[in-house]
Amino acid sequence: MISIDLHSHTTASDGTLDPVELCLRAQERNVDILAITDHDTVAAHHFLREQMPDSKLRLITGIELSTTWSGAEIHIVGLNFPLDHKDLAMVVNAQGDARRKRSHHIAERLAKRLPEWNAEQIFQQVLEGVINQQKSTSYGFTLKPEDIQIGRPHFARWLISQGLCKDMDAAFRKYLDNSKIGNLKAFWPKMSQGVAWIRALGGTAVLAHPGKYRMTTTKLRALIKDFKLAGGHAIEVQGSNHPHSQVEQMARYCREFNLMASQGSDFHNPDYPWVDVGRLPPSLPENITPVWEAWN
Ligand code: AMP
Ligand code: MN
Ligand code: MN
Ligand code: MN
Repeated sequence: MISIDLHSHTTASDGTLDPVELCLRAQERNVDILAITDHDTVAAHHFLREQMPDSKLRLITGIELSTTWSGAEIHIVGLNFPLDHKDLAMVVNAQGDARRKRSHHIAERLAKRLPEWNAEQIFQQVLEGVINQQKSTSYGFTLKPEDIQIGRPHFARWLISQGLCKDMDAAFRKYLDNSKIGNLKAFWPKMSQGVAWIRALGGTAVLAHPGKYRMTTTKLRALIKDFKLAGGHAIEVQGSNHPHSQVEQMARYCREFNLMASQGSDFHNPDYPWVDVGRLPPSLPENITPVWEAWN
């Protein structure tokens, strides 16, 4: 049985392992095929092109695009596109610009609630936190400050370091949830745009973790239908701890809408053993086509 994990994060986004550390962990855990899918960046892949550890691990290019659909934030995982595609930089830069504006907006919103700080100070401290995190890893993966993509988990780490929250969950609940921080979704492109970009790069567009959007069945079906009509290829059917009933539900949607199936742990860091790289059920449900079947 080969082990395939097509959703994971590094210190290029909100993970805590650098790209090499992630590959080594995947290899230790007997993963055969790994996609690194950082939020809105492929910096880990560019680094690994030079620094890939000597191993049997097959690395698949990937990115997790932040998009919106009908008032919800939807993540589209793009897989297996050429890293040297001439249009990749355009996509990454568009998402990077959005994320940069968004991180300044978050800093401003936080500053309104934390009178002892101003927005610029918060932004700089969060940025420094990311730089220090990157420096603390083992294989020399660092980004120029202007290339660093800040997300809410980085703000959460700063809030925790200031003693303002006890953990990530509390930081999101108290400060960073969409209800608390303003309309962050407005910064992202439409889902159909994200799907079109992945297609333009020659990649496979996957609807990430459909169970995480907390939608009614009616709304989820509408989302999947729109995703299919936008040119989407696959649904992420399995994750590290999706309940069995949900896996079966997503498999039914794959069959109904003629979509392929993907799977990925969404690994971010080693602190949560129930979400580890390669930690997935041994096989996909019957009668669905895995995305990797068409790859050679
Ligand atoms: P962003 O990309 O800035 O929107 O941040 C979203 C990321 O934050 C997700 O990919 C998760 O890794 C993380 N996240 C979202 N909600 C929570 C939560 N309640 N607790 C901890 N982490 C979360
Ligand atoms: Mn994340
Ligand atoms: Mn996601
Ligand atoms: Mn993810």
